[in-house]
Formats: sequence, structure tokens, C-alpha cells
Amino acid sequence: MSFDDIKLSKQIRMALEEAGFEKPTSIQKEVFSPVRSGKDVIGIAQTGTGKTLAYLMPILMKLNYAQGYDPRALIVVPTRELVLQVCETIDLLTPFMDIRSVGVYGGVNINTQKEKVCEGIDILVATPGRLMDIFMSRVLKLNQIRTLVVDEADKMMDLGFMPQLNAIFEVLPEKHQNLLFSATFSDTVAKLTDDFLLFPERIEI
Ligand code: AMP
Repeated sequence: MSFDDIKLSKQIRMALEEAGFEKPTSIQKEVFSPVRSGKDVIGIAQTGTGKTLAYLMPILMKLNYAQGYDPRALIVVPTRELVLQVCETIDLLTPFMDIRSVGVYGGVNINTQKEKVCEGIDILVATPGRLMDIFMSRVLKLNQIRTLVVDEADKMMDLGFMPQLNAIFEVLPEKHQNLLFSATFSDTVAKLTDDFLLFPERIEI
């Protein structure tokens, strides 16, 4: 199977070619269609399987091009390093697309991040605490979010982010798509899946 077998836009195919990626990994093949069709997904996959690209490709297809001010896709991850990695992968996929992304995380000045968020964005990548701090300061609206990704959900649970995740789910629009990725399907991840995902498609690599 090649990337031609996934219905990708010309812009994304050109970006993959430029990055030297020749064919999709297993998780990329399996995740694309369910995400594209709007389903909730629970993906059990380790880092290194290409899971980031797997959820970003269909999300970027849905976003299509820059629109409005408020983000339409939200990716929540447990650490600053992961925010930066996801942002790098977005940059890798979007040199030929008009898409605005911002990464926010704790431990650095919040005001600069607030300013960036105010400039208008399509896709926001965030650690949970900093996301809620920015949201509470009222410069960020989350009512246009159509797709939420919770990446490294098991690590998120281990770090005690359940209360922040609950708070995030509470402020998102009722109708949105949830994608949960985790290296392991622990009891806490199973509970998160039960609590928040609607008839999810389970994909295990
Ligand atoms: P991840 O599992 O998302 O952390 O990705 C692991 C690494 O694999 C990253 O450095 C990606 O850039 C790379 N990668 C993702 N998809 C592909 C692919 N289809 N072909 C080659 N490398 C890839």
C-alpha cells in the first residue's frame, strides 16, 4: 500500500514526498478512514509507529484551509516535548497548506502564547494545565472545536491530568469527534474511553 491508496490532498502528498516518506505505516492506513468519516477512535499504539502523522493527516484534510479565529482542532498531550514534536509534524505536513497552528505549554511566559492564540488559529496543540489557564483568561474560545485528540492518554493519566481533561471535555461543544491514543489500554484509559468516546472504533497496532 502506498500513500496513493489513501485519499490525500495533493498538498499533503507533496509534503510527504518532500519529507521522504514513501508509504504509510500500519496505524496510518487504519486510522485514516474512520477519522475522515467522523468516528471516535481509540488507538493503541506505541511512539515510533507513526501515530502522530496518522491522526494529523485526516485532521488536516478536514480543516482544509485557514478559517475564522477560533481553533477547530485541539490536540492535548502530556508534555512540552510532545507539544513541540506534534507542532514539528504539523509543519512537516503543511508547507503547501494555509493552516495556522500554535503550541502552548507550561513553564514559559503565558502572555506570548496568549498573543499567538489571539492572532487566529486552526489547530491548537497544548498541555492540559496551560490550555485551561489560557482558556480561563478568556482569550481563547473552544466552541468551534470539531476534533479533539488526546495523545499519550496513559501518560496523561499517570501524571494526574484527569481533572484537567474533565474540565476540557466540559467546555468543548457537545458534538465533536474524539480521538484517543495510548501506548497501553490501562484501566484508567478504559474508563476515559467509556466516559468520553461514543461508539469508538478500536485500532490496535
Ligand atoms: P510517531 O510514532 O508519531 O512518534 O512517529 C515516529 C517517527 O516516524 C517520526 O519521526 C515520524 O516523522 C516518522 N514517520 C511517521 N510516518 C512515517 C512514514 N510513513 N514513513 C517514514 N517515517 C515516518
